[in-house]
Amino acid sequence: MKTTLEINRSKKIKPSRYGLKYFVKTFGCQMNEHDSERIAGLFEQDGMSKASSIDDSDILFINTCTIRENADDKLYGTLGQLKIWKNANSKRKLLVGGCAAQKDKELVRNRAPWVDVVMGTHNLTDVVHLLNQSEDWGPITEVTEGIKTLPTDAPSIRESEVSALVTIQIGCDNSCTFCIVPSVRGPEISRRPSDILNEVSNLVDSGIKEITLLGQNVNSYGRDLKINGKSKPYFSELLHILNDVKDLKRIRFTSPHPKDFKDNTLISVNELDKVTNQIHIPLQSGSNTVLRKMQRGYSKKKFLEKVDLAKNTINDVSLTTDVIVGFPGETDEDFEETLSVLRYSKFDAVYMFKFSPRPGTKASDYKDEFIDKSIIDDRFMKLKELQTEISHQRYKRFIGTNQMLLVENYSKKSNNYLTGKIDGGQTTHISSNNIKIGDYVKVLITEATPFALKSELV
Ligand code: SF4
Repeated sequence: MKTTLEINRSKKIKPSRYGLKYFVKTFGCQMNEHDSERIAGLFEQDGMSKASSIDDSDILFINTCTIRENADDKLYGTLGQLKIWKNANSKRKLLVGGCAAQKDKELVRNRAPWVDVVMGTHNLTDVVHLLNQSEDWGPITEVTEGIKTLPTDAPSIRESEVSALVTIQIGCDNSCTFCIVPSVRGPEISRRPSDILNEVSNLVDSGIKEITLLGQNVNSYGRDLKINGKSKPYFSELLHILNDVKDLKRIRFTSPHPKDFKDNTLISVNELDKVTNQIHIPLQSGSNTVLRKMQRGYSKKKFLEKVDLAKNTINDVSLTTDVIVGFPGETDEDFEETLSVLRYSKFDAVYMFKFSPRPGTKASDYKDEFIDKSIIDDRFMKLKELQTEISHQRYKRFIGTNQMLLVENYSKKSNNYLTGKIDGGQTTHISSNNIKIGDYVKVLITEATPFALKSELV
């Protein structure tokens, strides 16, 4: 696939690995995906090219996650298999970064001593330097506790030539009991608006049409910046600044926190033509008891008020959410509260997760209240059935309407079809006749399933 290479020319790293091939294997969230793009950029700046697979690679970077995957088991299983990969060629180098490396550096080192570099989430820009050091001195572990600076000057190799992830903030000031982010990514730090604007302008110059602003809690963006002597969230202002970037077509953002949604953000989303009418508003649970135990900072009532506010403020808003099923102590009644929020809110899509304890989080200590796996599976199925029905109803509302489609890729099933997203974020397919990747075109929606739309060119 064609990639976009941004090189910060002021960063003088001497290319030294021409001819070698790298592979970056990513687990977890969009934040990790974007970190992997930066790792790839730094490797290419050092002269390497992308390998087609792990087996084809000389330098392998594993970007680990502790949030979404059954991370620990998966990671150590993967590292065990990679011992064989590494032993097959003495020149091969194995690097492990990301949240699991940040949290459990000693464990990674002890369980997989064949790893050349164990590095933390805040050491991303040092990856080539650490690789050099490991070649000179042997296995190295470098995990900085606390944040140095945002890695804003790292180059990136982006997987898409159409849309790009742009980090606006790292870390999180909240303390949800199921989440490891605050301890591995540190407190919230926001990038300067001028720095973000610069990156977005460069991306647009290189052909990018859509950006997704990334942060753990984007709507509190800027709280740590003092602009004109004032400290307050500047997310709405940032949207206004980016909306003025010429030739940029679309702005998305994820993830906001329900408690930090302000009227002015929602008003801006509605007013600004490039900011899409899609809002992700992570529920996690509809039960006040569970929400308190999760330390989410809102009640069911407050959450529903935000849903109403979004629906009343943004024209034809598409809402999506996250739900964790089977949080410790969740009763049938608690679960029913979650279902009632879904029935009321009518989300376009729900990202569902079965609770599994993450070592190092408070919730992993609630062992006495862990829910039986069969009960979690049963609740998960009920949630899925309900939401599939709701999603289908929601998606059907587009049939017969005209929408703007940004074409991103070929369909996985057939090269006769291209696929992309309409403004609301719904995956939409279209025949590849007379259309190419990167087109931003008006389409007529002709069919809807619970998960995707079909369209034709207007
Ligand atoms: S808001 Fe909660 S779930 Fe999100 S990153 Fe922060 S601690 Fe984790």
